Amino acid sequence: VTGLDSIGMAPAEPNVEVSEAFGADRNEMKVELGLGAYRTEDLQPYVLNVVKKAEKLMLERGENKEYLPIEGLGAFNKATAELLFGADNAVIQQQRVATVQGISGTGSLRLAAALIHSHFPTSQILISSPTWGNHKNILNDAGVAWSEYRYYDPLTVALDFQGMISDIKAAPEGCFVLLHGCAHNPTGIDPTPAQWQIIADVIEEKKHIPLFDVVYQGYASGSVEADASSVRLFAARGMELLVAQSYSKNMGLYAERIGAINVVCSSPDSAQRVKSQLKRLARGMYSNPPVHGARIVTNIVGNSDLFSEWEEELRMMAGRIKSVRKKLYECLSAKDKSGKDWSFFVKHIGMYSYAGLNEAQRERMRKKWHVYMTKDGRMALTGVSQAKCEYLADAFIDSYH
Ligand code: PMP
Repeated sequence: VTGLDSIGMAPAEPNVEVSEAFGADRNEMKVELGLGAYRTEDLQPYVLNVVKKAEKLMLERGENKEYLPIEGLGAFNKATAELLFGADNAVIQQQRVATVQGISGTGSLRLAAALIHSHFPTSQILISSPTWGNHKNILNDAGVAWSEYRYYDPLTVALDFQGMISDIKAAPEGCFVLLHGCAHNPTGIDPTPAQWQIIADVIEEKKHIPLFDVVYQGYASGSVEADASSVRLFAARGMELLVAQSYSKNMGLYAERIGAINVVCSSPDSAQRVKSQLKRLARGMYSNPPVHGARIVTNIVGNSDLFSEWEEELRMMAGRIKSVRKKLYECLSAKDKSGKDWSFFVKHIGMYSYAGLNEAQRERMRKKWHVYMTKDGRMALTGVSQAKCEYLADAFIDSYH
């Protein structure tokens, strides 16, 4: 043993570099496209009104701070599974879902990965190329082997559907397949409903098990129902599946770390066994989860008035992103005489778009135009206001050509 001094530096988290460089830039025209959070039209952080109302209720009730059970707040687990699948869904009615509260999306994925690692040690998981950068950290740390399936086609700036299907088909039987439920990060490209059916066909045929990552329910389209349709389509086939949920984005509860892991099993008995194993894994990692965010979500999802107000705020947030996409596209089409098709900005969904800018183009965006994005070229449109669209369009056209 050489001592702790032998420990080297960990690689820097790429997003941190972007926000630090953005913060240090004194140019008043600067634009931050590296964000992972919602911003208002004034580009300020946003706390949902409905969250403030729920917190006020909680304060009035004077609830205590006792430990939660290992699986989390029971009422939250019920509410979150019902929000995801719909309360009248067969998987809920038949008690086939094992739901355990998680430390937001990341922690819920980590629990899923731990479950895979301990019960399917030789199995691998297929992930999209590209995917959210942290997926690889989560899987590596849990000791789950992964390989990539094609997803993004740089030529069309759209889904490489044939590539995706043939890679999922080519993998050995019985893999896990990580899928983004909606608003794919980083590309902003989702399969169509017809394509989801074909994806489900192939996964069923190959006896793979899907692991859905659902971070944007309601925040992509503005409808919690529409954004859950991919997951519900798989559940309706009677398949086994895992779904990690997060309330970071759709309730703006980033720092509360609230989410859940749901495992849809083939019988209530199997669901009970899976739940006991999830609890066993959670116990050793963090003992039991935090209560504050769980109470907020439960109050909102479980109260019809607050729920409708939440849906309204979701439509507002999703609507702002869509209107920025539209304005940006209009500015680009009006200004760019080269004939380049910028319509991917309005075709993509959710807060991210991926235009596949190369390093030189990203450098020019940053150095000449003070526009910051992550290294992979992901652009968060939450960092854009109507007022910035003209300028941003000029920056794109100048840097692209
Ligand atoms: N998955 C994806 C695809 C994400 O975009 C995010 C948030 N950036 C997460 C998971 C997890 O976020 P959190 O842990 O804050 O819920």
